Amino acid sequence: MSNSPLTPGIVAARLPAAQIAAHFSDHTPALDRHEAHVAADRCYFCHDAPCITACPTSIDIPLFIRQIATGTAEAAAMTIWESNILGGMCARVCPTETLCEEACVREAAEGKPVEIGRLQRFATDTAMAKGGHPFTRAASTGKSVAVVGAGPAGLACAHRLALHGHDVVIYERRAKAGGLNEFGIASYKSTQGFAQAEVEWLLQIGGITIKTGVELGRDLSLADLRRDHDAVFLGIGLGGVNALRAAGEDKAGVRDAVDFIAELRQTSDLTTLPVGRDVVVIGGGMTAVDAAVQSKLLGAQNVTIVYRRGQEKMSASGYEQVHATSAGVRIICNAAPVAVHGNGSVREVEFAYTFDGPDGLTQTKETFRLKADQVFKAIGQTLTGAPDVATVEAGKIAHLPAGVWAGGDCTGGGEDLTVTAVAQGRDAAESIHSSLMG
Ligand SMILES: Cc1cc2nc3c(=O)[nH]c(=O)nc-3n(C[C@H](O)[C@H](O)[C@H](O)COP(=O)(O)OP(=O)(O)OC[C@H]3O[C@@H](n4cnc5c(N)ncnc54)[C@H](O)[C@@H]3O)c2cc1C
Ligand code: SF4
Repeated sequence: MSNSPLTPGIVAARLPAAQIAAHFSDHTPALDRHEAHVAADRCYFCHDAPCITACPTSIDIPLFIRQIATGTAEAAAMTIWESNILGGMCARVCPTETLCEEACVREAAEGKPVEIGRLQRFATDTAMAKGGHPFTRAASTGKSVAVVGAGPAGLACAHRLALHGHDVVIYERRAKAGGLNEFGIASYKSTQGFAQAEVEWLLQIGGITIKTGVELGRDLSLADLRRDHDAVFLGIGLGGVNALRAAGEDKAGVRDAVDFIAELRQTSDLTTLPVGRDVVVIGGGMTAVDAAVQSKLLGAQNVTIVYRRGQEKMSASGYEQVHATSAGVRIICNAAPVAVHGNGSVREVEFAYTFDGPDGLTQTKETFRLKADQVFKAIGQTLTGAPDVATVEAGKIAHLPAGVWAGGDCTGGGEDLTVTAVAQGRDAAESIHSSLMG
């Protein structure tokens, strides 16, 4: 190995292959059967369980945990999938510490919730390992629905529509289905090709055709879809990225964090993926944490997240912040980028300290510079490609003409999370079904 964490510039193979493989292995390994039973036994099976209310897909959590406790993991998986068809992925990626596990009465009583996420993974993994697909379609309705986008929202919508007997065509602009499950989620949360395996498992219901490499707005129009189908669902996510608005952000070495993460997710041999020695990530959300942690795991020597407001305002949860710092990432708050310096390529980023007061966020005259050979912009994704007929409010699709539905990150009404997208896709499918069947 010729490179090390100290090698200047953006280079591959900073760590030995075995170390990189270990770094990107399953972040939270699956429970075995005994561990699952012990974890399930901690549940009080609460009446009016607060964990159900805290789950955006309203999974009957005490029921599925009871099913695990009684040794029927396949029944537990069905309970999960009836509410959340991507329950396997959500078990891996949900920030449970701010959802069901935060609401768990054992968290309030003892500061240690029932491990709902890991139990959900145990149930769904156990049932998926048996093979086959547990749902059967209703008789054909003869209706056809177009779903745009094969992310969690589109997939959940398509599965529920197919279940009701409708034919579904998913139009996806990328070469692969899965949306951010395939191109965004951190590698160590979704290992061993789980995103594609889950898509293939979901499609076994039948009645769903995926057309990849087809982009709404480029290859076909909403009018085409409305002519050829009885209803249309838009699950197009947020395809754009906010600009830094700092001088010099076009220098070599500065790129969007989501592009880096997508490249990382699609790289089969991570020893070939170049990363900087001094990496600066600008932003305060999950994307910033994922870009920073994965840079560190690839062997970057110094990785710093810089966020413009106070730490308590970071949208990355406290758990994720601790995950980042324990991986060796430094977090600097109350600082905003003002300039990217370097001769062609980035060498330093200059920040101004900020003050978050009653008049909003203001920059002070105090500045500092961070050495950087790679900078990732992670300051939020934006809506792109919404059809002209859509009304957009606060950067999200708010209203659509009759016959067109939308859900997931491209719409408001919840946090931008996988589980929220699944809930909205599922609910839109029920609304489409009611509308089509009168
Ligand atoms: C880096 C990163 C890490 C994340 N980590 C987590 C996490 O750990 N846990 C969590 O819960 N959430 C996480 N999220 C958020 C989560 O991934 C999203 O909330 C979720 O994927 C939204 O699903 P969606 O279906 O609405 O959109 P997407 O997953 O973005 O899917 C949209 C799909 O539509 C396609 N598309 C877009 N425009 C068109 C068009 N015009 N024509 C055809 N197809 C189109 C896209 O190619 C894509 O496949 C993360 C997000 C990012 C960016
Ligand atoms: S709140 Fe906790 S203890 Fe109560 S049902 Fe939910 S997981 Fe079980």
